[in-house]
Parts: sequence; structure tokens; C-alpha cells
Amino acid sequence: MSPRYCVVGGGISGLAAAYRLRVLAGDDADITVFDPADRLGGILRTERLGGQMMDVGAEAFVVRRPEVPALLTELGLAGRQISTTGVRPTIYSQGRSHPLPPDTVNGIPTSAASVTGLVDDATIAQMAAEPNRPLRWQAGADPAVGAVVADRFGDQVVARSVDPMLSGVYAGSAATIGIRSAAPTLAAALDAGAPSLTDAGRRALPGSAQGPVFGAIEGGYQVLLDELVARSRLRWVQNAIQHIAPDAKGWNLRDDEDGHHHADAVIVAVPAPRLAPLLADVAPNAAATAARIPVASAAVLALAVPGGTPLPQQSGVLVASGERLHTKAITLSTRKWGARGNAELLRLSFGRFGDSVARDTPDSALLNWAVADLEAVFGIAVDPLDFLVHRWLDAMPQYGPGHRELTAGLRSDVPPTLAIAGNYLDGIGVPACVAVAGRAAQAVVAATIRQ
Ligand SMILES: Cc1cc2nc3c(=O)[nH]c(=O)nc-3n(C[C@H](O)[C@H](O)[C@H](O)COP(=O)(O)OP(=O)(O)OC[C@H]3O[C@@H](n4cnc5c(N)ncnc54)[C@H](O)[C@@H]3O)c2cc1C
Repeated sequence: MSPRYCVVGGGISGLAAAYRLRVLAGDDADITVFDPADRLGGILRTERLGGQMMDVGAEAFVVRRPEVPALLTELGLAGRQISTTGVRPTIYSQGRSHPLPPDTVNGIPTSAASVTGLVDDATIAQMAAEPNRPLRWQAGADPAVGAVVADRFGDQVVARSVDPMLSGVYAGSAATIGIRSAAPTLAAALDAGAPSLTDAGRRALPGSAQGPVFGAIEGGYQVLLDELVARSRLRWVQNAIQHIAPDAKGWNLRDDEDGHHHADAVIVAVPAPRLAPLLADVAPNAAATAARIPVASAAVLALAVPGGTPLPQQSGVLVASGERLHTKAITLSTRKWGARGNAELLRLSFGRFGDSVARDTPDSALLNWAVADLEAVFGIAVDPLDFLVHRWLDAMPQYGPGHRELTAGLRSDVPPTLAIAGNYLDGIGVPACVAVAGRAAQAVVAATIRQ
């Protein structure tokens, strides 16, 4: 009998898992993906705007991690990988734009010089003196990154350098993200005995001359999704799974139309808040833990404006905490990735952890905010040709203090032929999702063979 695998959730985690299952389990394996959405891909979603393809969920991946470039190569898509044009973002703080501080570890500066002009003189003096202040650090500790940076460098560094980076990645802030997730190499340097935050940051800085940080896919993430679907030869059932229970030979999955599906092994690749009800009977501790992971929502407004609109030569703007803007980040997509047509494309992100902006603000209000914010930041009145809004609700897990222990506990409660994957486990970015999905596929294939 050929093995039957069910994958619950068809975002990048589920699709990468389905592809890896096909590679590992071979031609005969039966692979079904359940997802009720209008298309597969989850937060990877490519739309046409201003005559061009544009990603309205994730738009990039970190190329210094190997997973996505390796997957593109494996799929014969290496030629579709593109890099940024080399332009940089700025930080909008105190009502004006500042260069992005150089030599930071996810916004944590490694010298006072790198934030000169962004913070006041008292903060510069505090930072300059920081290496001489005794540091108490307990190896393995995971406080909120904001608490550590505020104590050592001052509140302005948190609001104007660290928050803008973390709000881009997690729609969170330095208050909601643990230092071990925000800056793992820096936390490791502290564990290893770095005598100050400045010193730990310097030890943690990635080496120079490593090339661009971000890559993307020509044609958008849809290109990768299509290839994963085709190569995995999955069967897509457009239903949500509501319940998973053991049956005589494996697992029984019940969908939202009361359909029942048998699987020898299951990979559950849904967002953390959706995991809890699915695992409530099978792994109640894991279910309870998943329900405790806080999540944030974001709305992305994608905008096409006429070519020739005098946008600056920069990749975008990260907004400091406490500014009088509605947007938390602006991406000048055409400037960042290069022109692919006549229109200029932009993305503006709204919503932070703890607010309901992404959920409650009508599209028309988001558009008005976007136009007003672009005028405030760049001093230009844009004339939208077209726009669309996509809302990513409860989509961004907050890697709070102690997140690693929390997910270790969660995993230990899950039986061998049922694996979990998703952006709440080992990292929120696409590369981490691909890595986790691959390991999940390996684990269930090995467990199925052992049975
Ligand atoms: C606005 C935004 C921008 C981002 N930008 C970047 C970026 O530039 N680079 C980067 O690396 N990362 C980025 N990220 C993060 C990254 O996109 C996500 O973490 C990643 O795509 C999550 O993939 P996933 O498959 O784990 O989850 P999802 O994409 O959320 O997919 C989960 C799927 O499960 C389905 N589902 C839910 N419940 C059920 C159920 N009961 N039964 C069946 N199916 C179910 C959903 O319909 C969904 O399709 C961004 C995230 C957001 C929100």
C-alpha cells in the first residue's frame, strides 16, 4: 500500500512540506493538501498591479540563509532569483528621514557613531559610556530586547532604531520580542561573556562584503508556489480541517463539510492560533501552548503611481515608534527591485501588535492615510493609478521572551507521525518556514517507514 500523507495548510510551510514529502516518499505516495483559501500560498501572494506582478504578502527572503536559494536551485528556478538594486531604506523619526544606521544587529547599534543624528546628545553620551558600565547577564536568559537596549543605550535607541526593524519583521516591537529571537548571535555573544552590549553587538555583527541581504523572485513568489505544487503532485482539497483524531491505522481528519480523510501521517502547517483546536484531543499540551503565542495583524496597501513620480532613490522607509504617521513601513518596490514597467509600485504596511488597525480600517481610509503619509515623508502628492489592500490577520507570531522553550515544549507533545510546521516555530521568515517544513517531512516519512 502506498503511504497517504495529509498536509493541513497550504502556505509556504505546507507546500514546502508537500514537495519534500514527494522527494522523500517517492512517486507512489498519496499527498493531499487541505486549505480553504481561494488559492494556495497563504501569506505568499502575488497580484497584478499597474500591469506588473507584485507580492502583497512576503516580498523578499534573506539570502544569507541558504534555504530559499537552495530550494530555487533544486527546482530549476535559480535564474529567477533577483537582488535589490542596492538602494537603502531610511528611518523616519522626529518628523524627518535619517539614514539607516550602519553596523547594527537588527537595529541594535554597535557604536554611538552609527546613530549620531538619530538620537540626542545625552543618548550618544550614554552609549559611549556603556562599555565601561558593568553588565549583569545570566547565560541563557531571554529578556525582551527593548528592556536590554533601553537599559544600556536608552529609550531613544529602542524607539528609533530597534522598533522600526522589529515592526517590519514581526509587526511587533522591542517590547514584544525576546533578545534571543531578535538578535540570536548577540545573545550568544552575551552568553559567551561579552562584557557590554556594545562588545556583544560587535562580536555578533555579520562580516562585511557578504553581498546583498535580500533576494526576491522575478515574477513574484507565485513562481515558486506553482513549481512546488507541480513538483509535489499534490491533491488540493479546498476545505479547512476541523479535527484530527487517531484511527486504527493512523489519523482521521474531519473537514468543515464533515468529510473524513485517512492519513498514515499528517503535517499540520497552519498558523499558531489555528493549531490549538486541531490538536486539542491529540496533543492537548501543545494545543494549549500554541494558543498562548501572541499574534499581530498587518494590512498591506499596494499602490501603483505614474512613472516619473519623483520618489527618492531609496528602497523604503521604516517608521520609528511614536511618529505621527499611520504607516509603519513604506517600500518603494520599483526602486528596491528595479523597474518592470511604466508605473511605480509602492507598498505601505499598517498595523502593529496590540492594535486593530489591520482588522478595522476600511480600504478607503487606508488609501487616504497612504497618500497623506507619502506627502508627509517625501513631500510629494502622489496620484494613485490603482491600489489594492490585503489584510493578514493574526498572521505574525510574536517571538516573545522564552519563545524557544515554549516551542520546544510544544514539539515534545506531538506524536511521531504527526508533525507541525509554520512561522511560529523557528523563525517568522520564509527561509525558516522552508527549513521547518523540510524537517517535518523527514520526520513523518521516517516515522511512517518505522511503523
Ligand atoms: C505582511 C507580511 C509581510 C511579510 N514579509 C516577509 C518577507 O518579506 N520575507 C519573509 O521571509 N517573510 C515575510 N513575512 C513572513 C512570512 O511571509 C510568513 O511567516 C510565511 O509566509 C508563513 O507561511 P506559513 O505557511 O507558515 O503560514 P501561512 O502563509 O499563514 O499559511 C497557512 C495556511 O493555513 C491555512 N489554514 C488555516 N487554518 C486551516 C485549517 N484549519 N485547515 C486547513 N488550512 C488551514 C490558511 O488558509 C493558510 O493558507 C511576512 C509576513 C507578512 C504578514
